[in-house]
Amino acid sequence: MNKIFGLTAMGIFAVSTMATAQEPEQPWIVDRFDDIKVIRYEVPGFDELTAKEKEYVYYLSEAAKCGRDILFDQNFKYGIAIRRTFETIYTSTTEREGQEFVAFEKYLKKMWFANGIHHHYSNDKFAPEFSETWFREQLAKYINDDNRQMDDELLCQIIFDENLYASRLNQKAGVDVITESANNYYEGVNQEEVEAFYAAMVAADEGNPEPISYGLNSKLVKNAKGEVVEQVWHVGGMYSEAIEQIIFWLKKAEKVANPTQRKYIKELIKYYRTGDLKYFDSYNILWVKDTDSNVDFVNGFIESYGDPLGRKASWESVVNFRDEAACRRTEIISANAQWFEDNAPINPAYRKEEVKGVSAKVITVAMLGGDCFPATAIGINLPNADWIRKEHGSKSVTIDNITYAYDKAAQGNGFAEEFILREEDRERAKKYGKLGDDLHTDLHECLGHGSGQLAPGTKGDELRTYSSTLEEARADLFALYYLGDEKLVEIGLIPTLDVAWSQYSDYIMNGYMTQLSRIELGKDVEESHMRNRKLIAEWCYEKGKAENVIELVKENGKTYIVVNDFVRLRELFGELLCEVQRIKSEGDYEAGKALVENYAVKVEPTLHAEVIARNKALNIEPYGGFVNPEYTPVYDKKGRIIDVKISYPADYVQQHLDYGKNYSFLPSIN
Ligand code: ZN
Repeated sequence: MNKIFGLTAMGIFAVSTMATAQEPEQPWIVDRFDDIKVIRYEVPGFDELTAKEKEYVYYLSEAAKCGRDILFDQNFKYGIAIRRTFETIYTSTTEREGQEFVAFEKYLKKMWFANGIHHHYSNDKFAPEFSETWFREQLAKYINDDNRQMDDELLCQIIFDENLYASRLNQKAGVDVITESANNYYEGVNQEEVEAFYAAMVAADEGNPEPISYGLNSKLVKNAKGEVVEQVWHVGGMYSEAIEQIIFWLKKAEKVANPTQRKYIKELIKYYRTGDLKYFDSYNILWVKDTDSNVDFVNGFIESYGDPLGRKASWESVVNFRDEAACRRTEIISANAQWFEDNAPINPAYRKEEVKGVSAKVITVAMLGGDCFPATAIGINLPNADWIRKEHGSKSVTIDNITYAYDKAAQGNGFAEEFILREEDRERAKKYGKLGDDLHTDLHECLGHGSGQLAPGTKGDELRTYSSTLEEARADLFALYYLGDEKLVEIGLIPTLDVAWSQYSDYIMNGYMTQLSRIELGKDVEESHMRNRKLIAEWCYEKGKAENVIELVKENGKTYIVVNDFVRLRELFGELLCEVQRIKSEGDYEAGKALVENYAVKVEPTLHAEVIARNKALNIEPYGGFVNPEYTPVYDKKGRIIDVKISYPADYVQQHLDYGKNYSFLPSIN
């Protein structure tokens, strides 16, 4: 529940902010198969870290790789065994040309990506495109008593019987979500038994102001006596071999950590040793308060999306450090918050007298592990325990180098050529697209939502079902309006207003046209962010029609939308902001309803069908994931680390074979 997936706007455009002349011309997409593209990400700023920080990142990164087997096992009881068998065949077979091998390789690539044999997003088991005959031949040739991980017959059944373990996570109404899900969080127990087991635990803890997250770090099974018991993940318990390795590296990290970091690493190690969830809470409380350390990390059983009952957490790790440039951006915005408020193009009565900007933390990821790898979120908000969030707060970050890599990978996918008519607009997008996107998000989050005030007597709940669309519109309009203000150049946030104009073209095109590709033909727009973008784009199109501010162009049977007058469009943003603020401040339900219903909901079917068809023809893989960088320590004569070098491998297959060889500590069946 606390991860931000997907991209802002459409994540289409490329970037200039981080590109330098020396940037190597390596491709960003290193592999593509099925519905997946694998992208490499860079870690700008790593070389500028202190030697101690680099060493800290190195140790934490090693710890991040050591839990990979845990996730494979959590996702499916036979996950590790199947992966090892496939890797043995893959590296042994001499038949590397034919269709069968290519299909087998694709299956293995998908397995690495999903950390198992079920799709990482849909949870459905993969359908093999190689034949059982070919596979059995490989088994006979390359799998023997020395390297056999599981029974051959069972293995073939699992791979080829589509009904067996069909879904990793089955939450269909009416089914027993425990027995019908193939994940390995439960065994030999049904939904009723699981619910009864945890209901009793929770009841015994009733009234505890610091409730324990029961079940978070264990598998629930039936023992020989038929009793329902937990197998806890800790040293000496389940997953011990991997957890011991994680601790080994955490202890090294502890030695170079600052005093604050050292305190919570100690708690985390205690938790891994004992499995006692109280230590996990004390770790989280110390961790969430550390907002000063440059390098930060997540390492543990964190998110419970993989458990149909939402209790069991998958293992994951992220190592990161502050993106100073991006943080400076949000600090500048925050420092000028009052100026923005005082100059907002709204009724002065609805301006806030005293406004506080929020500065959001932006991070650079240095290593992804477990359930954050290869697919990852672009933002993180932790910890998950509600009472800790309430009592001690939470940390919310956005991951800039990951969005950057996504943007880079989208370059050349044909989207810009397909939907942007004018060369000059494409160029501007290429140059300033990402900075425009980032600043839009910053202004929206740091200022937009917090601006303005209600009129006396307005309670704030008057807009009912229209409130979230109108609130998003208000924050977007605030951002769009100020993005085109000379003030941004003056305070050093943008080099030129072209950044704003690139965002304007993108925003209008997305709101009016391209976002429709995500909606099924015949359906209306429902989601409030999408509604808000449509509202703004269509309102401005209509109001500026007489002056041709925005123009719909037909060329070769295709529709394009272009902005002809950026300065006038900015005024229109201001006018609409004024009206939306008035609606909110006065709680004018009827006017809010009219705006949303007239501009934000109904889709024009001909244009909709056209956008879907054009988008489909581009064949853009819907899912993306990453290869990790590699860190190599440099030692002095006494064997102490004096520096750490970073490199960027671009071979997806090799990385996973290496991880399988060097970071695999668990038995095949746990
Ligand atoms: Zn918002």
